[in-house]
Amino acid sequence: MKQIAILGSTGSIGVSTLEIVAAHPDKFRVVSLSGAKNLELLARQIRQFRPKLAAVADPADIPQLKELLAGVEVELTGGVEGLCAVATAPGVQMVVAAIVGAAGLVPTAAAIQAGIDVALANKETLVTAGHLFMNLVEQHKVKLYPVDSEHSAIFQSIEGHRSQDITKIILTASGGPFRETPLEKLQSVTIQDALNHPNWSMGRKITIDSATMMNKGLEVIEARWLFDAPPEKISVNIHPQSIIHSMVEYIDGCVIAQLGTPDMKAPIAYALSYPGRVSTGVKPLDLTELSGLTFSKPDLERFPCLGLAYRALGEGESMPAVMNAANEVAVESFLDGRISYLQIARLIEKTMDAHQAHRLGSIEEVLEADRWGRATARDICTTLQTGRCL
Ligand code: NDP
Repeated sequence: MKQIAILGSTGSIGVSTLEIVAAHPDKFRVVSLSGAKNLELLARQIRQFRPKLAAVADPADIPQLKELLAGVEVELTGGVEGLCAVATAPGVQMVVAAIVGAAGLVPTAAAIQAGIDVALANKETLVTAGHLFMNLVEQHKVKLYPVDSEHSAIFQSIEGHRSQDITKIILTASGGPFRETPLEKLQSVTIQDALNHPNWSMGRKITIDSATMMNKGLEVIEARWLFDAPPEKISVNIHPQSIIHSMVEYIDGCVIAQLGTPDMKAPIAYALSYPGRVSTGVKPLDLTELSGLTFSKPDLERFPCLGLAYRALGEGESMPAVMNAANEVAVESFLDGRISYLQIARLIEKTMDAHQAHRLGSIEEVLEADRWGRATARDICTTLQTGRCL
């Protein structure tokens, strides 16, 4: 029986993780959970899974959660310390890191420092603090299992192979809802258009990241750290069917790929049950039903965010953390109707242009770079809204 903690249990990944736990009560038990604003769902999850401990992002929400849980025996906590307590609760053997954004950084680091294995969905953790995280992982001898479908695919495709034989990691990308939208029409796409992902059902932030392809950019940086691969060995292919989740090319010219119906329950279950596998309810592929698998190179004019991510990775140091912070501000501003779709990339680029990359030696310094990136992006966003720039 594996005892797990879920950071971000009320989100898309968190809910899918709990579906797997519910389907395998003999294999997994939930020790602790955390949520942020969706208190009703968190309360329902606590009633169903009976964790010993639960946390909310804002301690001010604890009284309301307590009210929703009248008669239920559970310890409630909150804030960053509360999230860290969830990640390191006694008995936890694996933490599913599924908070969205840089907010996941500190509790995920706490899990690693406590020597607990992590199933990592929160890619922003590796984007902002990749080298520090991988050092922590090594120092504390923990295992980091990828949850992102692309990284899970790579993880499955490199099993049993030598890293020196890898010539290329090929991340696939659906291309999102604007893959074929005429460039001049991107000016006027709406929030709903951007949230309308053709293949995957996900949280709002990552869905917008998928439309801009910043998600793929974040994944390139994530792959750089997870698989210790230099940027020039990581490429992106547009594959609109989302059947091949990623591939690895070897020196002998062979390419190993992992395929499956696009459903996050499969990579989540693999991370939870590695090296074994458990049933997920995901519909098996019938290859004869597929009309074709197509691939093309991404167009950086259409998807400038992907180019920005490669730039951040190339400049390194604090630049990826600043880019990530600017992206979070940009996506939030777009979803609030304050900036247009095309202004997302411009806001990120302007924030990066204003930043001088410097070395990050600690998680506190990463958080400082994150704060700088957010503040600068917010300032630029204000000038942007008043029409004085961009
Ligand atoms: P969601 O937005 O659906 O869920 C995010 C979770 O984080 C929720 O539980 C939310 O709580 C919680 N949360 C939000 N803000 C904070 C905060 N400041 N402090 C603590 N908790 C917070 O996101 P997803 O599940 O889609 O994505 C989670 C992560 O997994 C992201 O990093 C994403 O990039 C990655 N990922 C997601 C995939 C997917 O298919 N969804 C695929 C691959 C990776 P509440 O809802 O209660 O406010």
